[in-house]
Amino acid sequence: MSVHVERLASHIGDVGGIPIQRALPNKARRIIGAWCFADHAGPATLPPERRMNVGPHPHTGLSTFSWMIEGEILHRDSLGSEQVLRPGQVNLMTAGHGISHSEESLSDRIHLAQLWIALPDAERERAPSFQHFAELPRLSQGGFEATLLVGEFGSQRSPVPSFTPLLGVDLVADGPADAVLALQPGFEHGLMLLEGEVEAAPAGHDAVEVITPGTLLYIGPGCTSVELRCTVASRLLLLGGEPWSQPPLLWWNFVGRELAEMQAWAMDWAREDGGRFGVVEGYPGPRIAVPPVPALRKP
Ligand code: MN
Repeated sequence: MSVHVERLASHIGDVGGIPIQRALPNKARRIIGAWCFADHAGPATLPPERRMNVGPHPHTGLSTFSWMIEGEILHRDSLGSEQVLRPGQVNLMTAGHGISHSEESLSDRIHLAQLWIALPDAERERAPSFQHFAELPRLSQGGFEATLLVGEFGSQRSPVPSFTPLLGVDLVADGPADAVLALQPGFEHGLMLLEGEVEAAPAGHDAVEVITPGTLLYIGPGCTSVELRCTVASRLLLLGGEPWSQPPLLWWNFVGRELAEMQAWAMDWAREDGGRFGVVEGYPGPRIAVPPVPALRKP
């Protein structure tokens, strides 16, 4: 059986003053499993006056998933959480029906992946929560050091919870490496290059794909394994999950199902008290204003 493979080019942007490459959503593909947003921020070295600062802003219907590679970020949210995120750690903020948060860089050096996980219908109105994971399972495979961010991989299971079957693995090689990774055939997957260059050979696909930063390789369901080879120091994320029959709607910082609810959320955030999103205490700056409502459109 042949496996469907797509190469998706990231678009370049800027979040809070640092350069980012956005792999998802992509015009050709909006979601992989429940992974509905994937930013690669940095690596960058910025002087103190240009550090990444993202003022208070609201979220709904998703979990934000921050994976720190270099540098430190201070997270604050409307639940009163205050947490420094350091390399090798994950912050998971589940917005449910509404939360707001801010992010401040505490270091000149910054390198992280910022991902969003869409919540399924049954969970998207749940109460907000915040969790910090200081340590995650690690394993070695064929020259790659793997950190299990979410889901099950090898014989390990990540402590990071998810509401839908999901996989996230950070893979890093200091030099030449060659590994065959077993995949869940019921999942679709994405390989998101962060550094270096990797050759990927998905089982059931008749070509070897060379991927570099700024390219996400989509591997459709039915694939049982992928061989990864690199000759230079490289880092990539393996993302996966059960395909969604209907991708959610994304607008600004909201994940929902209909434009009408986006309108209501935008009006809520425009209120002085932040409405359902509450207030972030302690951030030394203004909160981020909702874009003009007429900008509402299908992504
Ligand atoms: Mn955010």
